[in-house]
Amino acid sequence: MDSVANWAGNVAFRATALHRPASMAELQRLVADSPRIRALGTGHSFSGVADTGGELVSLASMPAVVKVDSQRGAVRVSAGLRYSDVAPRLHAAGLALGNMASLPHISVAGAVATGTHGSGNSNKSLAAAVSALDLMTADGDLVTLERGADPDRFPGTVVALGACGIVTSLTLEAGPAFAVRQWVYLDVPFTAAAEHFDEITAAAYSVSMFTDWRQQRFTQTWLKRREPGQEPPATWLGGRLADADVHPVAGMPVRNCTPQLGLPGPWHERLPHFRSEFTPSAGAELQSEFLLHREHAGTALAALARLSAVLAPVVQVSEVRTVAADDLWLSPAFGRDSVAFHFTWVPDIAAVGPVLQNVEAALAPFEPRPHWGKLSSIAPAVVAARYPRMDDFRRLVAELDGHGAFRTDMVDAYLQPGA
Ligand SMILES: Cc1cc2nc3c(=O)[nH]c(=O)nc-3n(C[C@H](O)[C@H](O)[C@H](O)COP(=O)(O)OP(=O)(O)OC[C@H]3O[C@@H](n4cnc5c(N)ncnc54)[C@H](O)[C@@H]3O)c2cc1C
Repeated sequence: MDSVANWAGNVAFRATALHRPASMAELQRLVADSPRIRALGTGHSFSGVADTGGELVSLASMPAVVKVDSQRGAVRVSAGLRYSDVAPRLHAAGLALGNMASLPHISVAGAVATGTHGSGNSNKSLAAAVSALDLMTADGDLVTLERGADPDRFPGTVVALGACGIVTSLTLEAGPAFAVRQWVYLDVPFTAAAEHFDEITAAAYSVSMFTDWRQQRFTQTWLKRREPGQEPPATWLGGRLADADVHPVAGMPVRNCTPQLGLPGPWHERLPHFRSEFTPSAGAELQSEFLLHREHAGTALAALARLSAVLAPVVQVSEVRTVAADDLWLSPAFGRDSVAFHFTWVPDIAAVGPVLQNVEAALAPFEPRPHWGKLSSIAPAVVAARYPRMDDFRRLVAELDGHGAFRTDMVDAYLQPGA
């Protein structure tokens, strides 16, 4: 196979082949004939979660299905589609997803498999919108799992790191379409943010706070308000309203971002920070993210602020968001309303590695769960112990994938008994 890497270029996939089947029958044959295979989404993960020594299969060439059920408020999508393929179609039908990640470029199946999230005190991970999925198991058979109908399996198969099989389609809950306006405050000091954390994160439907750790402040605080929403005041908690659009990463083109300054727009063109036609984030970067119980937000921020001097040289930008608890066994927000501390690092793992360990040590008292698709050096056994349903997940994987066709080194590290 020609060398294939993830989006960031830090993982060179070891797979012996990358297949792009164009039909369900072709996919079934491939899966049934392969001793070790795994789905690849759009390759936006920074961790080795998609990496396998076996074969990779992309569903991007499979027939694109976006089946809107306006009556039920649901949309069934084929698993190879990206949010940027699905969202405009849904909006045209008068419906909306409850939330989106910072970028719409990622596949729905890949995002859901890693517990990807956006922000908002009441917004759960994107996976929590899944009400049903079709899963291809190792012999090429299709199993349909539905929320409610299969309580012993469904909550384990949604955020599943690709370990239960190949998801071929997903049904997502959708509500009525809505408009959003976003505003950005500049330079809210850390002290005000820690003291008023709940007020800030409750100030809009979705709130993101950005810092580069160079000063003790959030350089940008993005408020995404659903219409009709109030106009924000010119100053707030020591910060001031931006009078021009901004990009969270210094020096990156502003046009890559979704419009700000209170300009109303449809949900899918405001909830992500980045526009689908342009490079998201910095482009040259690594990422890590840790989710902990929201009650620790202020203390954890103070612990990280003490590391500012070591963070500033290797962080392009950090983002702080909130994620509502869900019940998906491997979701980093499982069972706890969470605050997520994210790091967009410089693309230099030698420089980043030691600082990442400093971050993990500072956050350790709060038992963080690392984002499955981002970099972490916390021992798998320690992470596994932070998931109360990990043993159920191990049982489920053994039941659905007895011969380990979908296993990878990373998944194995978490699934080992005692890990
Ligand atoms: C610039 C940038 C910004 C990001 N912003 C956010 C953010 O705002 N919030 C956040 O939470 N994360 C964010 N991420 C992380 C990203 O959302 C996750 O890494 C996500 O998994 C990427 O989706 P993907 O389609 O690229 O999946 P991949 O990286 O291709 O795969 C991820 C996992 O999904 C599995 N998978 C993919 N398709 C299937 C399938 N059909 N069936 C079964 N398993 C499957 C793979 O096997 C693998 O285990 C960001 C990443 C980047 C690069």
